[in-house]
Amino acid sequence: MMKIENYIGGEMVEPASGEYFDNFEPATGEVYSLIPDSDDRDVNLAADAAKAAFRAWAATPPEERFAILMRLVGLIERDLEPLAAAESKDNGKPVSLARSVDIPRAAANFRFYATAAMHLANESHDTHGAGGVHAINYTLRQPIGVAGCISPWNLPLYLFSWKIAPAIAAGCTVVAKPSEVTPMTAYMLSRLCIEAGLPAGVLNIVHGTGPKVGSAIVGHRDIKAISFTGGTKTGEEIARTAAPMFKKLSLELGGKNPNIIFADCNYDEMLTTSVRSSFSNQGEICLCGSRIFVERPLYERFKTDLVERVSALKVGDPNDAATDVGAIVSRQHFEKILSYIELAKTEGGSILCGGNVSEPPASASGEPLRGWFIEPTVIEGLPFDCRTNQEEIFGPVVTIMPFDTEDEVLKYANSVRYGLAATVWTENLSRAHRVASKLESGIVWVNCWMLRDLRTPFGGVKDSGIGREGGFEALRFFTEEKNVCVKL
Ligand code: NDP
Repeated sequence: MMKIENYIGGEMVEPASGEYFDNFEPATGEVYSLIPDSDDRDVNLAADAAKAAFRAWAATPPEERFAILMRLVGLIERDLEPLAAAESKDNGKPVSLARSVDIPRAAANFRFYATAAMHLANESHDTHGAGGVHAINYTLRQPIGVAGCISPWNLPLYLFSWKIAPAIAAGCTVVAKPSEVTPMTAYMLSRLCIEAGLPAGVLNIVHGTGPKVGSAIVGHRDIKAISFTGGTKTGEEIARTAAPMFKKLSLELGGKNPNIIFADCNYDEMLTTSVRSSFSNQGEICLCGSRIFVERPLYERFKTDLVERVSALKVGDPNDAATDVGAIVSRQHFEKILSYIELAKTEGGSILCGGNVSEPPASASGEPLRGWFIEPTVIEGLPFDCRTNQEEIFGPVVTIMPFDTEDEVLKYANSVRYGLAATVWTENLSRAHRVASKLESGIVWVNCWMLRDLRTPFGGVKDSGIGREGGFEALRFFTEEKNVCVKL
């Protein structure tokens, strides 16, 4: 059985414990590789390697960092197919999605930050004080030191690179942990880093569980900043550990995103995108719209068309190009989603389509795949404040409900503890801006979904997190600022 290895100090190494645990393929439910069961000993080694590499890397000119990171981009693009296949096998997502979204976006993250680091500017101010005093104030931004990056399983390489790329480009060295559920592409990335000539210790990847490896990273004194993407509950725990050590924190957490549809929208575009924003990646994208609110005059038409489109989605082998919805990432998550479908029924919801474990689809060889598949599910008839409409399900399940007024839909949309993303469909320009400004959400898409511009800051409000990733914000996150005031 293939064994994944840690990447510490530029070398591929076994975990200190010598122990491994199983890595499952969601489509088959079978073990296909082994994950290092690392612990604080491995994190200590990784932090030591990162600390030892820091001074030299921080002093490396951005142009040289750029050259190394661009070599890495070239290697990711060269290995697009094997990386996409690994991402799909690890996560259960259709390989077509990994090929068109996850892996190209991972390469784009490295490319963007390789170039952005060359354009990071520091401000200076001409200061005139009382009595004719004249001074120049300037802000120096220097890499903060060793950074800890912890990422989830839903967009494995994409979100892993979203943290690592700005950290390394800014001149930090990194101790990183991918999700234990989807470690394969991070493992492949470590081999590509060696091939690209990334100096030893600049990036260290420690595989293992959150409670052992993740918490050791968060609690390590020499790790000065933590960039975390994952669940809100884990984020709370991380904040509790990191805050007394005054670490810099960026927390990208859960969501329960509204998709608001006004009757004057461009109907066809809205319908096609709403199917995608509900069920892409099996609904396991933090930005998916899981609560669909439809203005009453359009409700019945939308409901009929949505159910027809969703019923036609093909749940199938992730390797099949015709598959729309792949497997759920793990047995535990599969059971969680099913328990929410049961909850929706007890709360009075009507299942309009889906709602069941899917029949095992056939693999390319014709054998049934006995992994974790759930039919894409649409539910109606639930009040906006019930648990199904308030808690993050993170699967192929959406609820739909009608509304009559703007104020009413804003009340529904803003009623949750989360505030990550929202989508608004309307051709009325003033309404689009008005509703966008009143939504409690870090991101609002108007007449589109998941359109990304890497220059814009990204992140949630309320319990969806603190801090911003993306753009220059992410580079600045990995620096500390020093103000120097020189009297002339
Ligand atoms: P988790 O919070 O369970 O895990 C995220 C990462 O944290 C994993 O690597 C996990 O390790 C690790 N971890 C777990 N416990 C600890 C701990 N005590 N200390 C440090 N690290 C720990 O989230 P999921 O992996 O289940 O991801 C799904 C969640 O991520 C959803 O809530 C989703 O909304 C959110 N998300 C948010 C995004 C955003 O941009 N706001 C984007 C994508 C997802 P392990 O897996 O090994 O347990």
